Amino acid sequence: MAVITNEEINNIRSKANIVDIIGSYLPLTQRGRNYLCVCPFHDDHSPSMSVSEEKQIYKCFACGNTGNVFTFVEKYEDVSFLDAVMIVAEKCGISIDKSLIKNNKVVSNKEEFEIMNLAEKFYQNNLKTEFGTTALDYLNKRGISEEFIKEFGIGLSLDNSNTLYNLLLKKKYNVGKLLDVGIINQSDDRYYDMFTRRITFPLWDKDGNIVGFSARIYRGEKDTSKYVNSRESKLFKKGETLYNYHRARDFVKLEKSVIVVEGFMDAIRLFVGGVKNVVALQGTALTKEQIGLLKKLHSKVILCLDNDSAGENATLSNGEAMIKEGLEVYVIRLSGQKDPDEYVLANGIEAFKNNLVNPMTYFDFKVNYLKKNRDLSNTNDLAMYVNQVLEEVANSKDDILIELTLKKISEEYNLSLEVLKEKVKGLKKVNSQDIKAVKKVNKLKKDAYMLSSDKIIYFMLNGGEYIDEYQKKLGFFDDAMHREIANEIIYYYQKNNDINPPDFITYVSDKETIRDNVMQIVSDGIDDDVSIEIMDGYLNRVDKLMIKNEIKKLKIELKNETDANKKIKILDKIAELKKAN
Ligand SMILES: [Zn+2]
Repeated sequence: MAVITNEEINNIRSKANIVDIIGSYLPLTQRGRNYLCVCPFHDDHSPSMSVSEEKQIYKCFACGNTGNVFTFVEKYEDVSFLDAVMIVAEKCGISIDKSLIKNNKVVSNKEEFEIMNLAEKFYQNNLKTEFGTTALDYLNKRGISEEFIKEFGIGLSLDNSNTLYNLLLKKKYNVGKLLDVGIINQSDDRYYDMFTRRITFPLWDKDGNIVGFSARIYRGEKDTSKYVNSRESKLFKKGETLYNYHRARDFVKLEKSVIVVEGFMDAIRLFVGGVKNVVALQGTALTKEQIGLLKKLHSKVILCLDNDSAGENATLSNGEAMIKEGLEVYVIRLSGQKDPDEYVLANGIEAFKNNLVNPMTYFDFKVNYLKKNRDLSNTNDLAMYVNQVLEEVANSKDDILIELTLKKISEEYNLSLEVLKEKVKGLKKVNSQDIKAVKKVNKLKKDAYMLSSDKIIYFMLNGGEYIDEYQKKLGFFDDAMHREIANEIIYYYQKNNDINPPDFITYVSDKETIRDNVMQIVSDGIDDDVSIEIMDGYLNRVDKLMIKNEIKKLKIELKNETDANKKIKILDKIAELKKAN
């Protein structure tokens, strides 16, 4: 499998002028040293987006959207990061072999992905041998034909516990790497295959690279768990992937909706039946990263989780989390069988499709849910129920929905419509005050230390001399976030011997934990001049603030210390720090 390296991507970036690329989508006007345009990422009526030719980044001053030339194309065209790289390359007349990067990942993980691909091939091949007859039978009986076995890369791990291990050793892969990607296990100094005696299903990341496997029993064994999954590894981060995401993408665009199910067998079952805009969350709770992936699809979400109380509770909490992120959420609750897989096996795919014709809104689901375990003929229960529904209504921005719901409640429970409306009005006011208060806190949150540290990071992105200056004059940050970014910068510079803000953005584009902070720091620097003198000012300031902080901590220690000798030692330390400050 071929992969494009970060180096090649940086090369494309340096040949592409962000002003030309964004200019090919939107009209730009020059203002001073930057260019301005109407921001395509929010409902913009005056030009709020600034594009810097000098820094090769863009920033919207209204909605905060920011990044380099690739992130712009990625968001504007709604494609994967790598597809964005290809589009930019094409626009600049750089020819690259499309097969090189289609569905592959940028990165240093080339060998790791090779191992996973080999493992997949090995498992797939086993299914075709004499050892695979029973497993193949099992799959066919469950309605998974040859075509879909191939499509989903389904395979078989053998009874013997070191066949894959031996094969990979023969291919000269190092044992550490095999352990790293979780394809083998170690006990004492013996190594053995992670998966044996099970049907294997590859798991992919958002770009379609195999990052792990899930494996299930098929011979009715009783003494072992039904599924074994890859452990979390450098490649496999369960909470950051959605099963079938890369395959479902195009179908989601067509259907303008994405169906979210719990298990990957549910997803395969629907896909086999022709409902292809489906992803599985492989658990019950959506993570922040998974919601981010769903947002990228720009379509409504239909939650169709298991038909048990855990599935119902998960529908409630996941729905809530997605609504908060601005997604349009619908709900399907199946009845009879326990999950979509069994539902389709029992009733056929057409029955499932009927559920898709008119799914209930999340709002309706919630209103129904609130009724549960309540006796609405009891006044207290009814009051509690109505109050909760009104709170939901107050959170909604849909005026028609609000009107209809209030009317319905008023008629159903014989309550005055005017009173209900007044109550919602009051609740709405409280909500908007909450939002304002939160915004204020967020704005005030960055103190002098944080702001100056941001600037130091920004300078470090502008060349080796700034990194040297940081190492010489400061060398560390008090807080984990800046420390981690600084370490990444140093690592990146050592590897590439060159650094600049837009290329570093590419580098962190798949590092969820620091990406947003780096983007923020870079965009805040869009109009900054860089020089060692200015940087020294910030270094000095942070150094002083860290000493001040240290003194503060020592003073607290001093207060709590009872031993006189130790007290003197702490006082000495404080005096020393004060001198240095
Ligand atoms: Zn904007």
